[in-house]
Amino acid sequence: MNKLIVANWKMNNDFSDIPEFVKYVKKNAKGEDNLVVCVPSVMIKDFADASKKLMSTGAENCHFAEKGAYTGEISAKMVKSAGASYVILGHSERRHIFNENDEMINKKIISALKEGLKVIFCVGETLDEKSKYKSVIKTQILGGLDGVADLDNVIIAYEPVWAIGTGKVATTADIVKVHGYIKNLVSENYGKNLPVLYGGSVKPSNSKEILALENVDGVLIGGASLKAEDYIAIAKSRN
Ligand code: PEP
Repeated sequence: MNKLIVANWKMNNDFSDIPEFVKYVKKNAKGEDNLVVCVPSVMIKDFADASKKLMSTGAENCHFAEKGAYTGEISAKMVKSAGASYVILGHSERRHIFNENDEMINKKIISALKEGLKVIFCVGETLDEKSKYKSVIKTQILGGLDGVADLDNVIIAYEPVWAIGTGKVATTADIVKVHGYIKNLVSENYGKNLPVLYGGSVKPSNSKEILALENVDGVLIGGASLKAEDYIAIAKSRN
């Protein structure tokens, strides 16, 4: 199976970017599968309708409650009914800018899985935490997956915070080492081999090398996913 190529548009591309993006993919990505594009919640329906079977649509976040007085928030059910099949949870920008903690992320993961969404669960250390990455990632993973009974729809994304949007990429040796650590941790605690994506300044010029690495099951891309040309160049570098 082809490795997973996940785009995270964050709060960048707009409604007006959807037609051109989809048109490019339709024309230039024949035979490419396992493409996921995570878009701002208001754009899920438009993206899903436009991209149909070409790409899967994902949300960038959702709330943990099924419904209620949470002004401005969006539930997993709403995300699903808008046409998303994936959701990114625990992204470092959610953790650091919006103060999401492991307990909150855990509740979100449980809620999203209950709705049948596939969860892209992000973990990763800051620059200050680099020397103790094992304990940071262990706390994030065990906290985020606490009480999660069925891990079949969980995909972990290892995103060192210092590599996100900075142009700095973890070395290939570090990626192999940390992914191996994550795979072992999950296997020891849950008896599963979960897919692990790498994220952090992935672009067409480095994706081939990263995607060829042992224990890398795909990539999560921010900046380089905004242009379809770059996104598809990364997808094609899988082969
Ligand atoms: C991200 O935000 O998940 C990400 C990996 O961003 P970038 O590719 O821009 O570093």
